[in-house]
Amino acid sequence: MHVTMFVKSLLVSITLTTLFSCGSDDKKVATVKDSTQIAIPGSQFNADSTKRYIYLTWDDSPQPPGTTNCKRIFEETGIKATFFAVGFNQVGNKKIRQIDSIRKAYPQFLLANHSFSHGMNDKYRLFYAPAQHDSALSDFLRNERELKIPVKIIRMPGNNTWAHKGQITGQLSTNRLVHSLDSLGYQIVGWDLEWRQDAKSKQPKESATEMAQKVSQKLDDDETHAPRAIVILSHDRIFEKSAQADSLRKFIQLLQQDKRNVFETIDHYPPFKQ
Ligand SMILES: [Zn+2]
Repeated sequence: MHVTMFVKSLLVSITLTTLFSCGSDDKKVATVKDSTQIAIPGSQFNADSTKRYIYLTWDDSPQPPGTTNCKRIFEETGIKATFFAVGFNQVGNKKIRQIDSIRKAYPQFLLANHSFSHGMNDKYRLFYAPAQHDSALSDFLRNERELKIPVKIIRMPGNNTWAHKGQITGQLSTNRLVHSLDSLGYQIVGWDLEWRQDAKSKQPKESATEMAQKVSQKLDDDETHAPRAIVILSHDRIFEKSAQADSLRKFIQLLQQDKRNVFETIDHYPPFKQ
């Protein structure tokens, strides 16, 4: 069954952060737990006007070991994040289990839609061509169906575009596919800031400190799509080595030092509030 963001009555109180030991490792692991009822993706969210919301949106899952590392670090640091998944990448039982575990981990993690084929395997010009409209639309619906994606939230492969209830901006703002998805009730999420991959080294291009500074600066200067909220794009695969994973952990910990910062899943992006 598809659960939409219009389900208001199922608001739950997601409260506590539980700390417990992680096996033989002495690290503390924080998980976000629902104290009373089952949390419903897309359910009502009341933003706190004194906070700044950070949305980590990681694309192209499942791509282990990067996805495994990112998930573990998000759990260790007790933050929420969104994985925009690609059905094409879900080959084999291990990857199917990885997608299942993300889906089941709500409210800590949200599974969202990044198309089944990743825009015909990165052939964006063709994928977004008017003649391909029907097959591209089917590609998103297939991904939603096969990965059992619980929300109507999409990121367009290779394009920074935003759409919500007829308000459409960004690179594909005149594209018919985007308008069709919007008409069908899908929200399309772009990004305010990307943590990029260096083409040669395959490492994250920016350091953790640089990225944390950029996040704070953009929020301070109100240079984001919505006030007091920043959507950050990155990819699981760029954190597959331990040094890169350490950098992701440091980035989160730096941002956690500012008590105004709250990490949320993208179904709780303020403009999406019903
Ligand atoms: Zn992608």
